Amino acid sequence: MADHEHEHEHDHDHDELTEAEAQAEAERLVRKEIALSQIRQYGDPALRMRADEVESFDEELRKMTERMTALMHDADGVGLAATQVGILRRVFVCTLLDEDRVLVNPVVTPVGKETESEPEGCLSLGPIRVPVERHTRVTLAAFDAEGSPVSLELEGQDARVVQHEVDHLDGKLMLDRTDAESRREALGLLRPRLVLS
Ligand code: ZN
Repeated sequence: MADHEHEHEHDHDHDELTEAEAQAEAERLVRKEIALSQIRQYGDPALRMRADEVESFDEELRKMTERMTALMHDADGVGLAATQVGILRRVFVCTLLDEDRVLVNPVVTPVGKETESEPEGCLSLGPIRVPVERHTRVTLAAFDAEGSPVSLELEGQDARVVQHEVDHLDGKLMLDRTDAESRREALGLLRPRLVLS
């Protein structure tokens, strides 16, 4: 009993936000809304285009990836591809092992045959979550924003994120990789949004 009461008090403390905390939370939600309004949403043709290789690692690329990283964080995402902001270049930003990464001209290669199915979300697909089967382990070969080669071995969630982002650079969405029933359900949720926009 005593434990239970204690827990209850503890929860209560957490529920009550100070004015400063409430303000910070409200600001976070506004930043998220603004970020999402700058990310192309389902139905936008840019999401269906194949992006072109990056040829020069210049100031423009650096600025673009800085902006994409800020947008990704504001939108509460773990990855954002250039096609999602209407730029048809083979670049994405993501957070892998708690570290922000810029990955240019990425190539993902499966390691072994193991796959796993987990629900995925996408900053271009609103509240939709669908199960997607992905390779459990992959290697990623790419370049960073300065043009230095990057080579990573990834598994689980990190492997999933880079497979999702490389798909974006090929004009593919997670809807193309889910089962028929999940796709039907997702499209049912997405269509009314299109009518409204
Ligand atoms: Zn996505």
